[in-house]
Amino acid sequence: MSDLYQAIANSAVGKKVFSSLNLPIPVTLDRHRPDQGSFILGNVLVGAAAGSKAAPAILATLKAATGAHISTLAGMSSEADIQKASGTAGVNVENYTASKEDSQKFKALIFDATGIKNTSELRAVHDFFHPVMRKLDKCGRIVVIGRPPESCSIEQRIAQRGLEGLVKSLGKEVKKGAIANLVYVEDGAESQLAGPLHFFLSPKSAYVSGQLIRVGASDFGADGFDWHKPLWGKTALVTGAARGIGAAIAEVLARDGATVIVLDIPPMADDLNQVAANIGGIALEGDITADDAPGKISAAAKEQGGLDIIVHNAGVTRDKTMAGMPDKLWDMVIDINIASEERINAQLLADGTLNEGGRIVCVSSISGIAGNMGQTNYATSKAAVIGMVQGMAPDLAAKNITINAVAPGFIETQMTAAIPFAIREAGRRLNSMNQGGQPVDVAETIAFFSSPASQGATGNIVRVCGQSLIGA
Ligand code: NAD
Repeated sequence: MSDLYQAIANSAVGKKVFSSLNLPIPVTLDRHRPDQGSFILGNVLVGAAAGSKAAPAILATLKAATGAHISTLAGMSSEADIQKASGTAGVNVENYTASKEDSQKFKALIFDATGIKNTSELRAVHDFFHPVMRKLDKCGRIVVIGRPPESCSIEQRIAQRGLEGLVKSLGKEVKKGAIANLVYVEDGAESQLAGPLHFFLSPKSAYVSGQLIRVGASDFGADGFDWHKPLWGKTALVTGAARGIGAAIAEVLARDGATVIVLDIPPMADDLNQVAANIGGIALEGDITADDAPGKISAAAKEQGGLDIIVHNAGVTRDKTMAGMPDKLWDMVIDINIASEERINAQLLADGTLNEGGRIVCVSSISGIAGNMGQTNYATSKAAVIGMVQGMAPDLAAKNITINAVAPGFIETQMTAAIPFAIREAGRRLNSMNQGGQPVDVAETIAFFSSPASQGATGNIVRVCGQSLIGA
């Protein structure tokens, strides 16, 4: 779907007019290009609070970023630790001294805050970011690494929880398409940072800002892992894949190497077959609410040797206020958006269709987080998706299966094109990017959770909303 405001604002004349009227000019976001090579290109500044432990893992990850030039802030207490870690990782890290005069720009600022043990030590955050915030490049990246507060002693817990407010505020300050995100990594699980760092530093996270991901221990090892084809040899099934976000998910999973079964209702067969043909995938017609749907999905997946990834994307809105909502619209939305997902999960887990190390990725919505006028049915279903993810994650972890959800904000699809103009414009602009996201932004986040590199990440809900003000 096209965003006319953004197109005009970025034209030569439009830029002048919009600037003179002080109107926001939505930046054209950097998105993944197959020819980019290195997952991040440009200058990367790495810093750490005293006593932090993630720098070796950060630098080991950056070693694969052949297009990155790495430095650390001279004079910070962590300077020696970072230089030592650079030796171990075998990467060159230069010392950088910030001054108002220098024209240096950074594509990424990465701060390891795992060593922060109390609120007075939060000062290290200011020491690192203050001198360099104005040097963050267009579409730049901020990543802060902390410890899961619930795993910390009380003083450390208070300080680590503070990082959430920090990152959300940085996300609102950075502008020009830049983003800020937080990773809480368990003590001893630092090697699992490779996946989240690849995602948050790359253009794949273009529309993800102000978010946090929790990462724990897992047996994933980055050595020899093919980051360009992370899903090679995997089989995925995507529901609601004939168009919109579902079609984009199928395309991105196939790009990453997966064999993809695409499912949609029979009236969408032409579009579905086209998506399958485009990606060399397999079309499966069916309604996920049908009694035989779990069995059909299981049988189709077993023909491919079982499933490694199931993406519950199919969803509908049927908006009415509660007072005007007929039974059938309530039942329909609950059945499609959550109850069918429960039934399909139950079947795939009971009959072993979901392989060892499997991934369940669900599509929630910011409506499920914030609620929305006229969407009691939809918001209930999408909040229930969050409940399913959080409820199932601990049990599935014992089986080496992860379950996570993305919660899109305003994404440019046929679903949002049907929203009345004024509400649509508000949805598009009320976020840190001043624009709607693209289906590919949701798809990239789903591909991140689907990757073997995300084995340590489960029970997460990540909003793909350009840091929407709704429910923030
Ligand atoms: P869309 O309407 O363009 O696509 C949804 C697809 O699901 C359609 O192809 C449809 O035929 C299919 N589908 C519907 N009911 C089905 C059923 N019973 N069985 C099988 N397939 C069925 O919608 P979209 O915008 O691409 O949304 C995809 C998902 O993202 C949905 O779960 C939606 O709630 C969620 N979402 C979208 C946005 C947004 O801004 N577009 C925001 C938040 C969440």
